[in-house]
This record gives sequence, C-alpha cells and structure tokens, in this order.
Amino acid sequence: MPGEKLSSEELARYDRQLPLFGIGGQAKLKNVSVLIAGVGGLGSFEAMYLAALGVGRLVLVDADYVDITNLNRQVLYWTEDIGKPKPYPAAEKLRRLNPNVEVVVVRERITPETASRLVKDVDVVIDGLDNWETRLILDEAAYRAGKPYIHAGVYGFQGQVVVVVPGETPCLRCLLPPFLRTPERIIAISPVVGIVAGIVVMELVKLVTGIGRSNKGRMIIVDTYNMEFMNVELKPRKGCMCPEPGV
Ligand SMILES: [Zn+2]
Repeated sequence: MPGEKLSSEELARYDRQLPLFGIGGQAKLKNVSVLIAGVGGLGSFEAMYLAALGVGRLVLVDADYVDITNLNRQVLYWTEDIGKPKPYPAAEKLRRLNPNVEVVVVRERITPETASRLVKDVDVVIDGLDNWETRLILDEAAYRAGKPYIHAGVYGFQGQVVVVVPGETPCLRCLLPPFLRTPERIIAISPVVGIVAGIVVMELVKLVTGIGRSNKGRMIIVDTYNMEFMNVELKPRKGCMCPEPGV
C-alpha cells in the first residue's frame, strides 16, 4: 500500500512539481491507484506521465503482444520488445523511471466479468483502448462501481477526452449512437496520442488533488490538423443505465 509520507528522495524527485500540488497534493497522488485499460499508444503515454508524476499504483491491463506496427506511437515498447507479451516491457521501463510506483501487470481481456472485478481494486479508471465495444464494458463497470472513468480516443489528427464521474456526469454510453463501428486499422501518430494522453492525466490529477477546474461533464475534442480545441457540454440520455448507479 502506498504510504502517506514522502521520503527525502521523493521530495527531491518531485521538486519541480511540489509548488503546484503541495506536499498534501503529492501525497494524494501517491495514495491513488489507477487502472490503465489497454497499454498501447494512449496507455503508454498515460502510464509514463503517471509514473513520472508519482502516482502510487498503476494497474496495466493488456493481453496483446508487441508488434512492429505499434512502435510509431506506443513509446514504452522499443524495437527489442517486438513479440514480447504486453505490458511487461512497459512495466519494466516504468519501474526504472520511478521505483516508488507500484506497477501491476494484468494479462487479461476486458470482458463484463473481468471489468467489474478490475475496477473494484482501483480508484480511477483510464482508457487506453482502441475499440468502442470494450470501452462501453469498462464505462458500465466503472459507473456501477462508483469509480471515475476517463475516456480517451484518437484517430488520425484528432482525439477526444471525456471525464465520467458516477452520480455527477452522464456516462459514456449516453454520448454515443447505439451502433458504433470501430475502424479495422487505427491511424495514429505519437504527438497526437501524447497530447490526448496528457489531457487524460491532467484531468486525473485534478480529480485526485482537487486543484484547477475539472472538465467533467464535457467532451474536449482535439483537432491538431487545424490546431483547435473544442469543448462540448454533455447531456444525459433518457433511459440510460447511468442515472441509477449501483442498481
Ligand atoms: Zn448514461
């Protein structure tokens, strides 16, 4: 279990961010446990940012193997990792980046059964997924368990982030049309993935520490082609499962 106290090594390591968070905020980050669902492009950046920030526990969930086509954006996997089971090479690098962080590897597919078990064990759930079917499973499991879920997606030059807080905001299912098709081949480049993952992690930091203004209840859409950011207010959908969490 991550402790309350910060060591002298941690005080030095976080010297350039303590003015933003204070010792109290840093201790809150140290005490938080985050599920990263899918350690691909988004998950790589999210995990790296969270480990560098000093988040106490990261649970990396992924059952795939590293492929050469991953390397243009999944920055925690390097050439020598091709063929290795994810997310072990990612966990190994994260531990080297910040040994204060507990990194847990889960090689499981996300199904309704695994999702409801996995979300119970963490404080916040973040999206590193590449398909809508699994996102909706995770969204529902997190909502029913009362855990915040930060959705993120990227495609080409664009991406989006939604912060779902059970009981406070609409869920992800509210926002989506009933039939969604996931593209066969996700087109993605590291700078766009990094920007979107950075937004996810900033929103997580704000949820945990209480600093700044949370973007919960809105969808931020990132368009790097035109370099525009749009924020769209979200409305709950009538008849969705989310107005009754825990039922
Ligand atoms: Zn809903």
